[in-house]
Amino acid sequence: MQKQVNKSRRSTIKWGAGALFFGALFGGGAYIAPKLHANETLLRPPGALKELSFLATCIKCGQCVQVCPYHCLELLDITHGSSVGTPHIDARARGCYLCDLLPCVLACPSGALDHGVTDATDVHMGIAFLKRPDRCLAMLGESVTKEAISPMLTHSNKNEREAAVLEKVESYVGKPCTLCADMCPYPEPELAIGMVQDENGRWYPEIREACVGCGVCEEVCPTSGEAAIVILPRETYEKVYG
Ligand code: SF4
Ligand code: SF4
Ligand code: SF4
Repeated sequence: MQKQVNKSRRSTIKWGAGALFFGALFGGGAYIAPKLHANETLLRPPGALKELSFLATCIKCGQCVQVCPYHCLELLDITHGSSVGTPHIDARARGCYLCDLLPCVLACPSGALDHGVTDATDVHMGIAFLKRPDRCLAMLGESVTKEAISPMLTHSNKNEREAAVLEKVESYVGKPCTLCADMCPYPEPELAIGMVQDENGRWYPEIREACVGCGVCEEVCPTSGEAAIVILPRETYEKVYG
């Protein structure tokens, strides 16, 4: 799915805008640090209301967790203060695969997951961001190795859907890395992410307007430790790249 584009003032400008946003978000040192630990930054399931409304509405029943076929939802423990018992997604462990009919939303009895959100195009969980371009295998011109994907192969593998994810990831060993773009579960993934070249001919994933912040790209990024591409929960394309 590699698509060559004119390297572009447009993408340079977008890249720059994202970097500026990121600098403002993460470069603020001690002043900004408390905000990073605030509830606002948690990645919530599809359809989650705005954070304060979500906290006031969620009855902590765990129904969404029970029905998720990808096992990406978990209830937060007591260390998360007022968010204890509410569902969240650790995208590095397992992203949300935007299932047909969003069973998590359908299962939610309280409306904390908005029943008006009925398919992937309605979802707004956050936005993806290439936080560490210096570690991105595509930018480095390196192929995917077995060692690089081995942590991913330990992710939940309890049914056919999960097995298919891990099998697909495994098929990239020895190939150039386009995992984030190719695994994107958005119905028309090229509207959310695509591989493009910068002015020096290096490939990188370009995040596009339809990205919903599902976290799959972060899960499957084969860099060791923190992913090169991460989700900024609750943020929007307009705010980060606009
Ligand atoms: S859409 Fe599917 S994968 Fe995503 S949280 Fe809901 S049930 Fe889980
Ligand atoms: S999955 Fe990670 S390493 Fe691979 S192209 Fe995407 S950001 Fe780069
Ligand atoms: S680009 Fe990443 S976060 Fe955005 S929709 Fe695709 S996989 Fe999900």
